[in-house]
Amino acid sequence: MAIQKTYSMIKPDGVRNGHIGEIVNRFERAGLTVERMELGMVTLDQAKANYAEHEGKPFYDGLISYITSGPVVKMVISGEGAVAKVRTLMGATNPAEAAPGTIRGDFGLIMDENVIHGSDSPESAEREIGIFFA
Ligand code: GDP
Ligand code: MG
Repeated sequence: MAIQKTYSMIKPDGVRNGHIGEIVNRFERAGLTVERMELGMVTLDQAKANYAEHEGKPFYDGLISYITSGPVVKMVISGEGAVAKVRTLMGATNPAEAAPGTIRGDFGLIMDENVIHGSDSPESAEREIGIFFA
């Protein structure tokens, strides 16, 4: 499989609850490389661009205010099959359904605060890296 780049972001609850080190450790143990990393806020424009596909859904407004509510860790992760690898390490979107051993399964509590974001395709990755590391 080819070397890919993906965008991943530790969400405000992941930062607030002290999971930065463990999450980065899991990425590195899986053979992935942290190419870029920055702690900071997500602007309203970045939030809207990143979650454009969800505009109009019932949870959209809550999602935008949540992701802009506190510092996040923005990362570019690279490696063989990095997009799928990060998604596997993350686990299911709903922490209640995420398997033990996955990041969301171990550290997530509710759908609204599910610890981590990861691009869902190489195309999304390119778009999202452009949003957060312009
Ligand atoms: P992801 O790619 O696994 O993060 O999931 P999606 O792209 O489908 O959704 C983006 C984010 O929106 C998720 O990580 C959740 O934080 C939130 N989300 C998605 N679906 C729901 C939902 O049905 N209810 C709520 N409250 N939040 C949701
Ligand atoms: Mg998604």
